[in-house]
Amino acid sequence: MTTAAVATEHLTHEQKLDRLAEVAIRAGLGLERGQELVMTASLDALPLVRRITEHAYRAGASLVTTLFSDDESTLMRYRFAPDESFDRAAAWLYDGMGAAFKSGAARLAVAGANPSLLSNEDPEKVGRANRAVSQAYRPALELITRHEINWTIVASATPAWAAAVFPDDAPETALEKLWNAIFKASRVDAEDPVATWKTHDATLHKRAEYLNNKRYAALQYRGPGTDFKLGLSDGHLWLGGGTTAGNGLYCIPNMPTEEVFTTPHKDRTDGVVTATKPLSHQGTMIEGIQVRFEKGRIVDAKATKGQEVLQKLLDTDEGARRLGEVALVPHSSPIASSGLLFLNTLFDENAACHIALGQAYSSCLKDGDKLTPEQLAARGANSSLIHVDWMIGSDKLDIDGITASGAAEPLMRQGEWA
Ligand code: ZN
Ligand code: ZN
Repeated sequence: MTTAAVATEHLTHEQKLDRLAEVAIRAGLGLERGQELVMTASLDALPLVRRITEHAYRAGASLVTTLFSDDESTLMRYRFAPDESFDRAAAWLYDGMGAAFKSGAARLAVAGANPSLLSNEDPEKVGRANRAVSQAYRPALELITRHEINWTIVASATPAWAAAVFPDDAPETALEKLWNAIFKASRVDAEDPVATWKTHDATLHKRAEYLNNKRYAALQYRGPGTDFKLGLSDGHLWLGGGTTAGNGLYCIPNMPTEEVFTTPHKDRTDGVVTATKPLSHQGTMIEGIQVRFEKGRIVDAKATKGQEVLQKLLDTDEGARRLGEVALVPHSSPIASSGLLFLNTLFDENAACHIALGQAYSSCLKDGDKLTPEQLAARGANSSLIHVDWMIGSDKLDIDGITASGAAEPLMRQGEWA
């Protein structure tokens, strides 16, 4: 492999950017000849957007339409807009996106938001504006969450995001460091990135299939400050990697992606869990989280920093105190080995084994998309307004799979697949 390493070391930034665009179109999106593409991105991501646009047309896209956003313009609304502005959303735009998806367009989002853009704005206004967008976007977004169309998310480094991840570096250095981390995590350093992605995707599918065949009843976690048993939902399904969308096209929705994940049983988790990374939640940091579960419910929660925010989060609704997702990620994954906190879910969720409080994915249950909310709950799937992932993985975490008869089998040792 040394020749490949040497070969990619000589790639310029522009070449790596071009490779990222190529994997986004060919491995991530699986864009079909003649298909339209709707892309969203920040103006700061323009160089990557142009590379993606080129690769989309080379792959036969019939039309590429990009909707740009700009941080400064977003902030001006909070500074100068009348109060009633915050209950409005561009419904016509989201209706148009929905119409495009229905008539066959693919969807690509370029992530790279400033993690604290709105941290100094009135939380009430932020909440109202988010709600208005959620409502207006829901019909179009449902086509994406139900995987009716092929879609993916890739990341572009932006100055504000880089400054948040590398606060001690000069702006140019921070930006370069973040780009390098993104290139590495997105596997564009490999000799043949598209082929590397296909192999990686097959590995994730194999992991999920292995776990699905095992039909474990529970997982037992042991590590520093962590000793708990997590029950899996009845008829749970492990997922990972790409998927064939309703339009028949194969896509890998997140780049990077490292996790295999499923739905825990909302009433069957007991014991103590300690987070291994700070949680960046809506512009605030919650650090040193430790919680105790009893019959699936968090009965004790503390944080060394951001305790109040954590408490507020847990009080959102009854489901906010229960688990909606469990995900396994080996510690040697490229994101974990970077040791960085990206302050972006696309990356941080794929950095370590994690659990999520709140809403469960119905796709992680057999025939889950056909079940009523009552049937989902009966299988153990949690429901809540929130879905917040937090990292509990490290190189000191051991996990056993517990079979239906109660036997323990080693699943992960020291953070790696056993
Ligand atoms: Zn996850
Ligand atoms: Zn999640």
